[in-house]
Amino acid sequence: MNLRICATLLAYFACTVEVAGYDLDDATADHQAYAIMMSEQYGDVGAAIKSFRAAVRFNEASATWGNLGIALQDERNPDRQDPQRWLAALREAQQALTKALALNPHNHHASQNMQQNRQLLDAAELEATEEKDYYGVLGVEEDADEKVIKKAFRTLSKKYHPDKQQGGAGLSRAEAKKLFDDTREAYETLSDAGKRAIYDARGVKGLIEYRKTEGQRDMWGNAVSSIPKSANIEQYTHVSLDTLYSGGETTYTWNRKRVCRICRTDPRHERCRKCQRCPDQLEMRREIMNGMIVQRQVRVASEDYCRTERKTLTAVIEKGMPVGHKITFPYAADQEPGHAPGDVVFHLHMSPGGGDPSGSGFKRVGDNLRLDVDITLKEALVGFTKSVKHLDGHTVKVTAKGVTKPGLVREVHGEGMPKHNYPSEFGKLVIKFNVQFPKSLDSDMRERVLAWPDRL
Ligand SMILES: [Zn+2]
Repeated sequence: MNLRICATLLAYFACTVEVAGYDLDDATADHQAYAIMMSEQYGDVGAAIKSFRAAVRFNEASATWGNLGIALQDERNPDRQDPQRWLAALREAQQALTKALALNPHNHHASQNMQQNRQLLDAAELEATEEKDYYGVLGVEEDADEKVIKKAFRTLSKKYHPDKQQGGAGLSRAEAKKLFDDTREAYETLSDAGKRAIYDARGVKGLIEYRKTEGQRDMWGNAVSSIPKSANIEQYTHVSLDTLYSGGETTYTWNRKRVCRICRTDPRHERCRKCQRCPDQLEMRREIMNGMIVQRQVRVASEDYCRTERKTLTAVIEKGMPVGHKITFPYAADQEPGHAPGDVVFHLHMSPGGGDPSGSGFKRVGDNLRLDVDITLKEALVGFTKSVKHLDGHTVKVTAKGVTKPGLVREVHGEGMPKHNYPSEFGKLVIKFNVQFPKSLDSDMRERVLAWPDRL
């Protein structure tokens, strides 16, 4: 009770001093003393800030500016209740602390609080950020593809270009510039698959959070991201050798889960008829149990609505892709509230039978192909011309003029697999000749063979 009376008296005194213009140092000291008391004993940080502000008007000392900065960033500052006012208070604190350090670089108290203020300021900027509807700005549906988004951007950026405004009935230059900037901002996010995924999951605030950690790596060299990513879809795809030779496509169709953005603003939209509350989310909560802080996973009902859509992805199998190759569609997997979606990854595997279901006999060894070719004993001795049907149907002529020993291997350059990423270059076709001996000779054949010279 005594303290309260004392504070009231001091407040009165401080006020009087200010008005009367007494000795300035005394006035500063009084304002400071009053402020410190209000803050420490009564927890009235709002009154303390007012007093510190008065004190710095009288005396520009490093400690005074430092105290003002520290009081402004105090969580009990009444401005904390409103995101915009809190942001302004922290900006003022930043200026006050900067001044304190300019006046005295050794003010450790101020330099420590400067760091803390930077963090609070970052968080407050995030909190005060207004959400934006980038899809609405471009006038496209939320599932619009890249082409549609690009086209909308081109049309609108021409329409709103500040230099193209004729005045009169049109937009003012300032209005046009605002719309032009909004259009560009929306396009920069929606044209980048990664940024778009984060925006879809966490909005503009998610993008700000992401930018802060972008490019940062932890001590193991892994990318640090503040946005969790939901699971990938790993799709194992069997491909045949002739598809890998000529190139082709493979598709994957599933019911993709989407977090509905329309539901957030317009739940009665006709496209939201089938939207349902998203599955519960698991959150880590810190709780105090028996005096110890423990982390506990809790199930929380989602605030978002989800729907499913039939989605087909078509992966292009390029000529000469190696087995085990992965084709990745970034952020194309199911969406989950608060998460950036995972990727859809196609893993290329050879279909059974070495990828040769049509029985062509070709086997792949890296960029080369192997083929066994049967020849008769006669062909082995006197030569032959053979036509081999290749994987894409073209024929390769193989000729031998002399004797071909059993198991002889011949390499045909340029008839192997196309090289991935250099499809005009090909590996080798390695042909092994197997001489097929007759199972038996009839008497006529035997007579003829007996007539051969003994050297054979
Ligand atoms: Zn919906």
